[in-house]
Amino acid sequence: MASKRTHVLIIGPQGSGKGTQAALVAPRLGLVHVATGDLFRALMASEGALAREVRSYYERGALVPDDLTVRVLLSRLEELDRCDPDYRGVLLDGFPRNRAQAEALDAVLRERGDELVAAIHLVVPRDVLIERLSGRLVCQQCGATYHRTFNPPRQPGICDRCGGPVIQRSDDTPEAIARRLDIYEEQTAPLLDYYRQRGLLIDIVGDRPIDEVSRAILAALAPRLGA
Ligand code: AMP
Repeated sequence: MASKRTHVLIIGPQGSGKGTQAALVAPRLGLVHVATGDLFRALMASEGALAREVRSYYERGALVPDDLTVRVLLSRLEELDRCDPDYRGVLLDGFPRNRAQAEALDAVLRERGDELVAAIHLVVPRDVLIERLSGRLVCQQCGATYHRTFNPPRQPGICDRCGGPVIQRSDDTPEAIARRLDIYEEQTAPLLDYYRQRGLLIDIVGDRPIDEVSRAILAALAPRLGA
């Protein structure tokens, strides 16, 4: 039986920098970055009925149904247990996105005997989010993110990190962006109180340089992770 894990969530609207920050701080904290959006993008790269089903939600900017999302997350956690029995915990990015998922997560953690120690909330105004999302570019191969104007790859269309193709995400269209931000306000933002009431929520100002945000997250988490 593996030892008890300590997990952290990162919550914020699309474009608030969750993926960027999670990728930067997770290794510094000894946590594994687990993003449900990345799990779905990997799944969609395969063929078959499941990939088609996920694509039908993803490309509209709609949420994938909860039961499927929870199954995909659980299978990733089980894979980590098998491949890396000593890992400390995960930094969950993009999950939970609604109350049903938050309750499913509580049940999973209870069953595993794991603990959630903090929920990082990235706070960014809506106009900044839209500006960031409409110029966002991602590497199709390694998931690194760029921005057409604020942070372009050194060679256009080619990832600095792995040389893979840098493209616009299929759900970063104006319609899908508006829909995803609305879903966040309606379904995900109410979770902030859910975690605040339990003393887990930590607000971090996300509208400032990337390394300043990372430093603030690391400083806030250090006492909770005993780092
Ligand atoms: P993200 O990369 O986190 O912006 O997620 C991209 C898309 O993946 C979302 O718009 C949804 O279609 C799907 N997705 C990611 N995480 C979840 C989740 N927790 N629940 C349902 N759908 C999700």
